[in-house]
Amino acid sequence: MIKNPVPWPDGARCAVAVTFDMDADSILHLEHKDSHRRISATSMLRYGPEVAIPRILETYRKYDIQQTFFVPAWCIEQYPAAVEAMVKDGHEVAHHGYIHENPIAQSRDEQLYWLQRGIDVIEKYTGQRPRGWRAPLYNFSNDSADLLIQEGFTYDASLMGDDIPYIICTDSGQLVELPSHWGLDDWPPYVHSIDLDYVMPIRGPREAIQGFRSEFDSAWEYGGLWISVWHPFASGRLSRWAEVEKLIEYMLEKGDVWFATLEEIAAHVMDCIDNQSYQPRIDSLPFYDRPVEIKGPDKI
Ligand SMILES: [Zn+2]
Repeated sequence: MIKNPVPWPDGARCAVAVTFDMDADSILHLEHKDSHRRISATSMLRYGPEVAIPRILETYRKYDIQQTFFVPAWCIEQYPAAVEAMVKDGHEVAHHGYIHENPIAQSRDEQLYWLQRGIDVIEKYTGQRPRGWRAPLYNFSNDSADLLIQEGFTYDASLMGDDIPYIICTDSGQLVELPSHWGLDDWPPYVHSIDLDYVMPIRGPREAIQGFRSEFDSAWEYGGLWISVWHPFASGRLSRWAEVEKLIEYMLEKGDVWFATLEEIAAHVMDCIDNQSYQPRIDSLPFYDRPVEIKGPDKI
């Protein structure tokens, strides 16, 4: 099913990264000018840094795994204790915008400004420049790859173009792409918020986790990559997190699974390319340099 699987370390069948985007209430302030009056929605989102992050970190300590957290820089400034706890436990803190802004709606200069401002905050609070980026709401623009390469990033985790790592390249250089997709995102099964204009029928945790487990079983079977795009305020709630713990135990019992940060996975992929044990697929970006126009006798 996968024509060029990555040779994972120690003969592992697949790589697993339980990644979180700790957006907290950044998304509410972006959406509403009167966000300061929306106390209930704010409380739902603050549950992430206040209650869910300590719970998630405890689980990672229990299973002795290090993972990656994408955190908008504004959230780092707002909730420094949550980020300090991530760093203390050896997890990776990666870039996820300044306040979850939309790069597609910005000029190239504006995108660069917010990217650099976020880098400065991550460096100040973690002691290291970020190596990876995930576009807020997957809003990876036609400038994003160039700007990431220019700022020295090694990987992106926003795209959905394969089951395994691949390379994205532009005239400026290249990046490792560590793809995921909406089937591994927890918003569709769990988020129901009129304030966020996202109203889904909430799934029970066992039903939701079944989808994530099927994704893992296929990655294990065929030599793929499993990267969750989860959010502490959603997946970190009590009954949902209890199911996640069971899923991690299931993965550990199945065996031959490489739990790693995205930074480690990207470094491994680059090593494999260098020693020629892996030939990645390469996507040249952007796919189109202007809007696609179809000419014909009638308007479509
Ligand atoms: Zn986000």
